[in-house]
Amino acid sequence: MPNSELPFMKTAAKLVLFRNWQYALLGAIALTIILWSAVKVPGLALGAKFTPANPRLGETLVVNITPSPGKTTPPIVKVGSKTYPAFGFGADRFRVMIPTTPLEKPGDRDVTITDNISTTKLKITVADRKFPIQRINFSPGKSGIEATELELKQVAAFKAIVSNDKLWDGKFIAPNQGRTSSPYGVRRYYNGEFATDYYHRGLDYAGGYGSPVVAPAGGKVALVGYEKKGFRVHGNVVGVDHGQGVVSIFMHMSKITVEAGQMLDAGDQIGSIGSTGSSTGPHLHWGLYVNGVSVDPVQWRSQSID
Ligand SMILES: [Zn+2]
Repeated sequence: MPNSELPFMKTAAKLVLFRNWQYALLGAIALTIILWSAVKVPGLALGAKFTPANPRLGETLVVNITPSPGKTTPPIVKVGSKTYPAFGFGADRFRVMIPTTPLEKPGDRDVTITDNISTTKLKITVADRKFPIQRINFSPGKSGIEATELELKQVAAFKAIVSNDKLWDGKFIAPNQGRTSSPYGVRRYYNGEFATDYYHRGLDYAGGYGSPVVAPAGGKVALVGYEKKGFRVHGNVVGVDHGQGVVSIFMHMSKITVEAGQMLDAGDQIGSIGSTGSSTGPHLHWGLYVNGVSVDPVQWRSQSID
């Protein structure tokens, strides 16, 4: 072989190598496109993460949603036939809160998330939980205090508030320094009969008469009611809107130190412990509602729900 042919052969070999490398690159690009299409098929583009991972009855389920690429309007989240509001979270995500109660059955919940580009169906299992039982006996003919139309209407309107801005930040603090005398979720028997619709919709604090009641988190005063103006059951009551469907109600107070519309930071005083309304002794009842349903405040005290 003449020496002069060697450079040519080397070049040819290099060309073949280059071609193979080109084909490999083309193949890789094609594979990427195929995989990308697979990711974009309905049901795979939309991501969702639940917290807590192992929820129990009474806890709030938080769903963090990564929408389909380019989708900026809130997704629609349904559990069964009920729809829950979604709010923007961070730069490109959404968050939905689903309340659970002691009245529900434990087990699987079917959650459907759709943003009109794709739909994701998920199952979340809610574990059972034992709630304390209380037996209340009335003497014949004796009935409890009845709520007035005015308080029922105003309290119902307050619990239905779903405002846009998130006003809380991190873990909730205790609204009173007293010990908790009755936990969330207590079930009752009245004269030996199980009350199927009753559960203690809040947490009681046995702070002393006149001890301060403070906002457990930031919010806006959205309800102020007085016993002498018809709040016969709630007594002197304050409702705080924390935003995005999360509201707190504080009942039976002796004194109220805020006005409707006032903005609050966590720790700001709203009143003092009393025994107004349907109450047998000085205590604070704190009810925490998520999308209109009473949930366990203890979870919000121990976890930062952001
Ligand atoms: Zn209570």
